[in-house]
Amino acid sequence: MNTTDIKVFKFGGASLKNVAAIRDVAHILKKYKGQPLMIVVSAMKGVTNQLEEVVASYLQQDGKAMQLLEGIKKEHYEVCYELFHEEHEILTTLNDVFVEVEWTLEEEPVDSYDFLYDQIVSLGELLCSNIVYSFLNESGFNIRFLDARDVIITDNIYRSATVLWEETQKRCDNLLKPLLKEDQIIISQGFIGCTTENFTTTLGREGSDYTAAIFAYCLDAESMSIWKDVPGVLTADPRFFDNVTKLERMSYKEAIEMTYYGAKVIHPKTIKPLQNKSIPLHVKSFVNPLEEGTFISDDIEDTYPPLVAVEHNQALLQLSTLDFSFVAEHHLSHIFSLLAELHIQVNLMQNTAISFVLCVNDLDGKIDTFVERIQNDFKVVLDRGLELISVRHYHGGILDSLKRGKIILIEERSTKTAQLVIKDVPMVRRK
Ligand code: ADP
Ligand code: ASP
Ligand code: MG
Repeated sequence: MNTTDIKVFKFGGASLKNVAAIRDVAHILKKYKGQPLMIVVSAMKGVTNQLEEVVASYLQQDGKAMQLLEGIKKEHYEVCYELFHEEHEILTTLNDVFVEVEWTLEEEPVDSYDFLYDQIVSLGELLCSNIVYSFLNESGFNIRFLDARDVIITDNIYRSATVLWEETQKRCDNLLKPLLKEDQIIISQGFIGCTTENFTTTLGREGSDYTAAIFAYCLDAESMSIWKDVPGVLTADPRFFDNVTKLERMSYKEAIEMTYYGAKVIHPKTIKPLQNKSIPLHVKSFVNPLEEGTFISDDIEDTYPPLVAVEHNQALLQLSTLDFSFVAEHHLSHIFSLLAELHIQVNLMQNTAISFVLCVNDLDGKIDTFVERIQNDFKVVLDRGLELISVRHYHGGILDSLKRGKIILIEERSTKTAQLVIKDVPMVRRK
């Protein structure tokens, strides 16, 4: 079969949040009956966060890890009791998936945090894909299950693994393409991959969109659709802003910029593989599947309304030399090698004669380690609990309204993008 006929669909946590949502997935797929589809699913809503708690508890050895895992088990079994008859083989399948993690939790942790994280957190995608596979199979779809770890091959940087494209393409050609036929659905997991030594890796939080793009690229797919709980790409996150509007169309370039600045609707790595092969991306609502959504393609469109993206949990690090000499190249190379070693994402930088200011993601206590390791060489001033707001295609009015009631720590503007590092004004307590 010519794989250029294949469509790649990705269903995320929100579209797999409960039994009704899983049934809705089947309704959506019925409209594509007779067409070859590759489906990528992530974990059910909230499960990855719960699994992160299992990992934390296991590493602290606080005795709660197994209990937390039991909670996750119960949730998945309840979904199965509603979807399947009580002796359905899915229960054994899920049990086999859980057993491996249970064995791990019974031992003392010896491996690194990142390694253990991937072995445990990958469970969410494996559980969900097995449930959806079984349900679609029972619903009469011609469907096959593919373990993404047989195809998506990565390096061994656990928790943010890099795809080894050549090996992944080879596996896709040898293992996946021969499975494709007319009227065939293949279902696999997002977010997870495998090293050449056969250890499970993950591609970074929210990475299932990216997995779908990897499959789309390797299969030369006709198109890719990600089914979301929003009507498409909006001018801002509707959870935090009113009066947002949907974009009908968007260029790859604009989508890359917007997601890079933190628009959470698509994982930032998703667009490039699609752009490289001119594979169009549809961002569609699983609530209203017949609506158009947002169409992202090669077309050049240079007029956009202001697009706002917000990154929470930001920290501002102000570094100055202890002897008040200028911050020079050798200082910067020292700072950046430590940032790279600790995998700290830098979102904005500003330098003055005697200081260097960085706005970074404040995650997993990495900033504490950074400060601890750099404070012998630099004076460090740290400000936490901040937000970074980026506005593409800004105008004065929108910046003014975003700044209202906030303390602006940094404001930077280029022709198309304005960025603000902001702090909420603390409440003044009246006596
Ligand atoms: P999934 O679990 O399907 O991957 P996500 O929760 O990761 O879904 O992404 C969808 C969410 O992205 C929406 O519910 C919305 O709150 C958020 N979001 C952030 N920025 C935007 C934007 N510009 N347009 C639409 N949704 C956005
Ligand atoms: N389940 C993973 C997460 O919550 C991957 C994804 O949803 O894309 O980050
Ligand atoms: Mg997501």
